[in-house]
Amino acid sequence: MHETKPETRAIASIHIAEKQQAYWAAAQIRDFAKYAECMPPGRPGIKLADGAPEEVAATLHTSIRIATQRILEAEYIVRRLPATLDALEKGTIDLARVRATCQITKGLSDEDALAVENSVLAHGPHATYQEYRRALRRQAMKADPESAERKRKQKEELRDVVTRKGEDGSAKLVATMLAGEVEATYNVLNHLAHQSKTPDDTRTLAQRRADVLLDLLVGNDMERVQAHINVTVPLTTLIGLNNKPGELSEYGPITAEQCRELAKNGVLRRIITDDFGNVLEASPRRYASDGFADRIRMRDRTCRQPGCRVPARKCTVQRTSKKKAGRRRRFRERDYFLLCKRHRLMYERTKGWMLTQPESGRMVFMTPTGQVRQIVAERYEEPAA
Ligand SMILES: [Zn+2]
Repeated sequence: MHETKPETRAIASIHIAEKQQAYWAAAQIRDFAKYAECMPPGRPGIKLADGAPEEVAATLHTSIRIATQRILEAEYIVRRLPATLDALEKGTIDLARVRATCQITKGLSDEDALAVENSVLAHGPHATYQEYRRALRRQAMKADPESAERKRKQKEELRDVVTRKGEDGSAKLVATMLAGEVEATYNVLNHLAHQSKTPDDTRTLAQRRADVLLDLLVGNDMERVQAHINVTVPLTTLIGLNNKPGELSEYGPITAEQCRELAKNGVLRRIITDDFGNVLEASPRRYASDGFADRIRMRDRTCRQPGCRVPARKCTVQRTSKKKAGRRRRFRERDYFLLCKRHRLMYERTKGWMLTQPESGRMVFMTPTGQVRQIVAERYEEPAA
């Protein structure tokens, strides 16, 4: 009798784990749909009940945007793609293929969606995800050529330029346009990048493309981009005593050197903290709000609802306790916090959420199903252990 080789056992185990993940993903999709069914929207014009995505976001420690997506996606799969969900449960296909089916069948009639699903599933998982996706697109175009054309037109409506946060001091600017427009824009950028090369230029073509874009849009006129840049920097870093990192608003930590470079630039707003991350001084440039509200904004940085990333400049300062402050009573930071418009309305429209702020910046939320989440304002400095 020969023993099974360890690599054979590992492969078998990998395969089993993959199938089990698919099984549990299917079970979770059914549960999401069930939850949505129990929480019907309470007013016209909305897809989910007020507070439902917030409950999911608090449970899964995820953003409200992702929570909303997952509930709506699950509802869609249960309602329109039953065979695909069964295939996921059996482990024939994975979650990525299920999501591709959702995307590609959107906009088709129920009948066409069913036909596309069945004809692609009939050939199993296909060799790769990309092959599966192409098969779906092919079948969808065959089932409803007009819908394919409508989708192309809709994509045109979705043109946009967005930013994506990066790390290590960089970020991305992503433009969505029609394929032909992207190519034309890129070609011009490439052409200008080639032209901008001087004999002693050590920059790569990629670096010159980025520089050309910045020059075209921003030039030397940094005044134009100052509006939303806040730099928070420990005083000790600013005066060069140490190299503690600072923060760029809505971006996150940046190196001490980058802080000093940015803070030198007079157009930026400087927020100076002590070594424990408490705000010492917020220069009055840019925001007209009073110093107290400003401190709450600097402390909270985003809407305090668990999972919400709406930045402070789009939030308003709310009171934690409903008790009226006496005329002479000092404003206490722990009585105030930030909420975005959506969540202000959520608290007006729904019952069952409770929140307290036992100390400044530490909020405790209880969801309607009784889960407790603590949200602590991200500090500008890790507290010493
Ligand atoms: Zn919010």
